[in-house]
Amino acid sequence: ENIRSLATYVPGKPISELARESGLSAGEIVKLASNENPLGMSPMARRAMQEAVHGLSLYPDGNAQVLKEVVGRHHGVPDDCIVVGNGSNDVLELVARTFLSQGSSAVHSEHAFAVYPIAIRAAGARCIEVPSRNFGHDLAAMADAVAPDTRVVFIANPNNPTGSFLPGPMVEQFLARVERDVVVVLDEAYCQYLPSALAYDSVSWLERHPNLVITRTFSKIFGMAGLRVGYALCHPEVADLMNRVRQPFNVNSLAQAAACGALADEEFVARSAQINREGMKDLEEGLRRLGLRVLPSCANFLCFRAGCAEAINRALLKDGVIVRPLASYGMPEWLRVTIGLPSENERFLASLSAALKGHD
Ligand code: PMP
Repeated sequence: ENIRSLATYVPGKPISELARESGLSAGEIVKLASNENPLGMSPMARRAMQEAVHGLSLYPDGNAQVLKEVVGRHHGVPDDCIVVGNGSNDVLELVARTFLSQGSSAVHSEHAFAVYPIAIRAAGARCIEVPSRNFGHDLAAMADAVAPDTRVVFIANPNNPTGSFLPGPMVEQFLARVERDVVVVLDEAYCQYLPSALAYDSVSWLERHPNLVITRTFSKIFGMAGLRVGYALCHPEVADLMNRVRQPFNVNSLAQAAACGALADEEFVARSAQINREGMKDLEEGLRRLGLRVLPSCANFLCFRAGCAEAINRALLKDGVIVRPLASYGMPEWLRVTIGLPSENERFLASLSAALKGHD
């Protein structure tokens, strides 16, 4: 019954599905639905992946040793502090499977990433959803909501789908308030998009907070969503527990190789952040020009209030533009659009403008 009561995660519509439904060719479709990198994948990651193709008859390194060493050097942590995952979703689920069971609970925010309640409830635990504050996490209320049976708290910073951001000192204060037997997951899937004035060093908190689990992904700024690789940084004892639960070959050989290449490609990351900053400005201005309410965002997407979002979304799809409706996030009047290349952003704004006029 518990599993039956779960709502299936519905991702952004794949291009192939819309092409089949609409008769449009894949090239005519613009997908700005899943916060992917419009530049694609880093050339260094691609080269590393191509070199790994010859070894595909063998199992991957089940311990992802080389990747862990590269990640460890990147963050200045030993490799026993790292847990790799098939995307960071896998890591989030690993946290739930390791620390939650029937009779325990986990805290998350309203309008936060949809995988948290799925992972919590699939592990048999109870969700404590805390009302959001200005579409972001209300950390004081989340700390108050921690119950005696709470074992995990999930925080996304920046948050998906709203793009809200919590300054580093606020998160650190939260960690100081929560008991050490509660694992605090700090999901930093979008942290590389933060302007340097807002960036904070969560890795340096690990020493003082052995209950902190930081999660990162290669799906966003590194442009590798299709390869599925992410990781957690945490205390070695926590990593050891999660590694006992983890499937041994959860990250495939191509993904391991590509991730090593991606971390080395600083130029690509900087260029991706720059394109995002410029595109964000253009899209935000464009949406405001259309008279829409837009939430301030620190990530690679924007949420805007479209009123009759379902009808607007249908009109966009008919025009070959895929964005993300947010009804399943408790925001039925809102849509989320990923920042694309300038041409994609223009195409989206023109299509949205026409859809809004058609709906007047
Ligand atoms: N955390 C957040 C906040 C996300 O938005 C996403 C992807 N939408 C993920 C984690 C998971 O990403 P992946 O599994 O591709 O690493």
